[in-house]
Amino acid sequence: MTDFSATRALFDIPEGVIYLDGNSLGPLPRSAADRVKTAIEKEWGSMLITAWNRAGWMALPSRLGDRIGRLIGAEPSSVVTGDTLSIKVYQALAAGLELNPERHVVLSDTGNFPTDLYMAEGLLRQLGSGYRLKTVAPEEVVDHLDETVAVLMLTEVDYRTGRKHDMAALTKAAHDRGIITVWDLAHSAGALPVDLAGANADFAVGCTYKFLNGGPGAPAFIYVAPRYAEKVRPALSGWLGHEAPFAFDLDYRPGQGIERMRVGTPPVLQMVALDAALDAWDGVDMTALRARSIELGERFIAGVEAACPQLRLVSPRNPEERGSQISFAFEDGYAAMQALIARGVIGDFRAPDIMRFGITPLYLNEADIDTAVARLAEIMAQRLWDQPDYHRRAAVT
Ligand SMILES: *Cc1c(COP(=O)(O)O)cnc(C)c1O
Repeated sequence: MTDFSATRALFDIPEGVIYLDGNSLGPLPRSAADRVKTAIEKEWGSMLITAWNRAGWMALPSRLGDRIGRLIGAEPSSVVTGDTLSIKVYQALAAGLELNPERHVVLSDTGNFPTDLYMAEGLLRQLGSGYRLKTVAPEEVVDHLDETVAVLMLTEVDYRTGRKHDMAALTKAAHDRGIITVWDLAHSAGALPVDLAGANADFAVGCTYKFLNGGPGAPAFIYVAPRYAEKVRPALSGWLGHEAPFAFDLDYRPGQGIERMRVGTPPVLQMVALDAALDAWDGVDMTALRARSIELGERFIAGVEAACPQLRLVSPRNPEERGSQISFAFEDGYAAMQALIARGVIGDFRAPDIMRFGITPLYLNEADIDTAVARLAEIMAQRLWDQPDYHRRAAVT
């Protein structure tokens, strides 16, 4: 059994704060500051450039990839870290399209995160005539899987509502029609059990600063199914994805397997912070995490619905159909969230009217949920949100 009071002690959350935004930026793992300090002083400071070999910096992207792989049901040596999620979306999509050259449509849904769609648009424009991005309502995806579609590109858990696609079923339906799949796990990795190998997924990508707690700007990851690992040709053919980077050949030859999805110099300090953050996951059983997430989520929904009739649940009511966040719609949701943050309960807001609350069992318990509900209830009952300060939009919402 996973001991969630022990994992809670691994995080440095400010006194008096209840953090319900781990779906957007995970909190600071206590060990991260020391680990980064050591990397700066003992590695960068003392070893200088020799640290690439002596401190194992060059191996970090694949070593961290394997650590994340365990949490998403990936085979060993099928995940590598680096760059940003937007970049990894581009890489995965480009590789998927090349595996299905006769077809020119990328199918996605209107609930997808904008950057995934933007990156697809940019790539398809470069590929030229005939290539096209088609977006349909999330519940209609399955009806649009036809022989024109080259790649099905979906985010498993919707960033606004928490609605979850059935990855295994959609992957199977896609494969039955000769379609390659690219799954974005931004709101899945560290949020719920993922079984990439079991679902027979082709490509997957995700970020590590949300539920995995890798810190602001932490590197992204990419998964390529072993059956394609030696076959894909990287569109972003950077030198560190070359078979022999230090041969400095003039011609590109893809590296072995997943290594070819590396691009350039890895962000070492960010990777060291992520390495520390992943320690918190070592003893965590993802099935236990899921059970705990559902327990806390149900408690939050029941509390808010009982106390705040102004808020409307927009996450699926069936816990099996959502990820690990709960969203409520409220017309003045932005102001209400600011009022809540001012009272020590941190969630966030997504336009036009969604208040998001991340449910993260690693560091949240029943008492936190109850306090958060009580503060929200007070704000709603007394219209405490209705102050000019709370209506002023900041750059990041
Ligand atoms: C958070 C998120 C991103 C962010 O991409 P970055 O390149 O890391 O800024 C992309 N896609 C999805 C689905 C996300 O949830």
